[in-house]
Amino acid sequence: MMPRTVRGNGLLIVSSVAIVGLSTAAYSFFANKKPDTTLTRLGFTPIQLHHSQQLTHDVKKLTFKLDSDKKLGNYTSSAVLFRVTLPNGKTELRPYTPVSHELQHGSCEFVVKRYDSGKVSSALHDLGPGDKVEMWGPIPNFTYQPGEYTDIGMIAGGSGLTPMYQLINRVVNDRDDKTRITLVFANKTKDDVFLKDQLDQLAAQHPDKFKVHYVLANTSEDWTGESGYVDKEKIQKYMPSASAKSLIAVCGPPAMMESVCGKKPNIMKQGKLGGILKELGYTNVYKF
Ligand SMILES: Cc1cc2nc3c(=O)[nH]c(=O)nc-3n(C[C@H](O)[C@H](O)[C@H](O)COP(=O)(O)OP(=O)(O)OC[C@H]3O[C@@H](n4cnc5c(N)ncnc54)[C@H](O)[C@@H]3O)c2cc1C
Repeated sequence: MMPRTVRGNGLLIVSSVAIVGLSTAAYSFFANKKPDTTLTRLGFTPIQLHHSQQLTHDVKKLTFKLDSDKKLGNYTSSAVLFRVTLPNGKTELRPYTPVSHELQHGSCEFVVKRYDSGKVSSALHDLGPGDKVEMWGPIPNFTYQPGEYTDIGMIAGGSGLTPMYQLINRVVNDRDDKTRITLVFANKTKDDVFLKDQLDQLAAQHPDKFKVHYVLANTSEDWTGESGYVDKEKIQKYMPSASAKSLIAVCGPPAMMESVCGKKPNIMKQGKLGGILKELGYTNVYKF
């Protein structure tokens, strides 16, 4: 069954991938193979919240329950479309990127930043164990091929960390994958930085493969990292140099995207390369 009502990006996403979904389902049917994924792309699947954990003042980790023999069905860094019914009875669609490994069975995790006037992020923060959210996906996105790049530079702002986090975990946990990753993670204040312990631990465990640098717009006296915005100087300092074997991945709020790599028009389109990365001669750039 296709979703009843979808708007804006939702309509584009659902119609763009319906053919892929139907072919996948048809293949599974004819091969008489029971899919081990919870999401089917044929319709929205209600998934139950197991528990939520406050990570920072406005970020929660939401753990959802899956059948023990099933994984969610996302692939590296792909997002999933949530359909949430608000207290006023209206349904809203928003994409979220799981932070759990694509091969994880029995549960999956999302990290959601709450915005004060944010309809869906607030509703997700208000969920309690046992409540359900409808999910559809995965949304076709970046396809990661180990070995395609020797270096990946990542620039993430706020909740834009989530697709990067998935990719970092996949690369560092694959012994055969020699890709080096450098992440620049920008936030407003120290209190806004989430998953810092996990990122620092990954960097300590895999010093040859993963490095992380934090940038804060508003710093306190004890701050030893970078301050201000992600500008040309920081990109030149931390990102791999432009080459056919390096990729720069960017994900963050619209103002950051525009300044760093040029606008991303919608979830399905990359838009023109612009901003600082274009000025510095980068051509392999992916906008999440
Ligand atoms: C591919 C993709 C993956 C995503 N993955 C995640 C994820 O894993 N975790 C996550 O927390 N979010 C993620 N997002 C963002 C998410 O989809 C919502 O846009 C976000 O939760 C806000 O939705 P809302 O309904 O709460 O806010 P809305 O009701 O849509 O917006 C209300 C107000 O909130 C503010 N606001 C909304 N979004 C932002 C923003 N990004 N930056 C600054 N201010 C904003 C604005 O002031 C806006 O006017 C992702 C977005 C995309 C496109």
